[in-house]
Amino acid sequence: PVILGIETSCDETAAAIVSADKRVLAHALWSQVDAHAVYGGVVPEIAARAHVDHLDHLIRQALSQADMQLCDVDAIAATAGPGLIGGVMVGVVTAKAMALGAGKPFIAVNHLEGHALSPRLTADIAFPYLLLLVSGGHCQLLVVKGVGRYHRLGSTIDDAAGEAFDKTAKLLGLGYPGGPAIELAARSGDPKRFSLPRPLTNKPGCNFSFSGLKTAVRRAAEALESEQGGVHDRDLCDLAASTQAAIGDCLINRTKHAIAHYLGDYAPEAPALVVAGGVAANETLRQRLTSLAQDHGLAFYAPPLWLCTDNGAMIAWAGMERFQIGQSDPLDSPARPRWPLDETAPPLYGHGQ
Ligand code: ATP
Ligand code: MG
Ligand code: FE
Repeated sequence: PVILGIETSCDETAAAIVSADKRVLAHALWSQVDAHAVYGGVVPEIAARAHVDHLDHLIRQALSQADMQLCDVDAIAATAGPGLIGGVMVGVVTAKAMALGAGKPFIAVNHLEGHALSPRLTADIAFPYLLLLVSGGHCQLLVVKGVGRYHRLGSTIDDAAGEAFDKTAKLLGLGYPGGPAIELAARSGDPKRFSLPRPLTNKPGCNFSFSGLKTAVRRAAEALESEQGGVHDRDLCDLAASTQAAIGDCLINRTKHAIAHYLGDYAPEAPALVVAGGVAANETLRQRLTSLAQDHGLAFYAPPLWLCTDNGAMIAWAGMERFQIGQSDPLDSPARPRWPLDETAPPLYGHGQ
């Protein structure tokens, strides 16, 4: 089978087609980064309108890349949440209309499940695996027991990891999105120059906290202002490197705790640590997680960079995983701004949000 996947939950408009044997037959994506960069973050209203403007031609582009027509796909999957509701509605309504017109099943994909299963599109990873899900809006440690079966070990009590990158970059004037900007500046910076907080480190459990980081970075920048009359390029690189190190330390420490729970509670036959979501594109983090996994006898998997940040292929693939176990969704299934992953049988309209 082949599945068409549609992603519109944030600031990427994307459509892709994947096959059951893990071939990405088409992958079309329009990043709205330029439209939002001037505002220093995603403006929901602008995002929703841009999805309307671009989705149609991206779907046509994906079909023509795959040399297919709509009747050749077996189901249409779209992100149905969580995300910015205006954008989610654009994708969901488009997918439903296409499914109705073509007489194909519609599959409502949880965006987080898209991230969570994305590593399985490019590698054969057995359940249960330990997942560090780090994106713009989420930061969680989960045991992925199977499709639709997630056990959450911990999550952020304030900001997401990507949000911490984005907010720090914004206050340092490094631009949007912040993750890539911080990573670039950090390359020529000293990660030890500024001592930034690592909340919850070595505390029991697997929760995260990043809100103290922004304040500490702001104070450090203000101190430089008053001591030397400004923040120079050198300082910016050192601040970026110190920020990246602090976020990395938190992620590594919490993941270390999660590994103990995962190994103890699940005794997996093929233990694996998997990272997914936009922040998984961070090269330093990937390296650190590689050695962490090695130290604990786990295999390590990270999706290729293009599959880390939002894209249509991960939605098509999550749709494929659900299609293969016989699941699809009714045409009256809702668009959900909030939709926790570790929840069986998502309730309809308005409940559990
Ligand atoms: P969510 O998936 O939680 O709904 P989202 O879809 O907006 O949020 P993603 O597209 O998965 O998030 O990831 C975007 C986030 O990843 C942004 O916060 C961005 O700064 C971060 N990011 C992207 N590349 C990197 C990188 N190289 N290093 C660190 N962070 C990065
Ligand atoms: Mg994005
Ligand atoms: Fe995402």
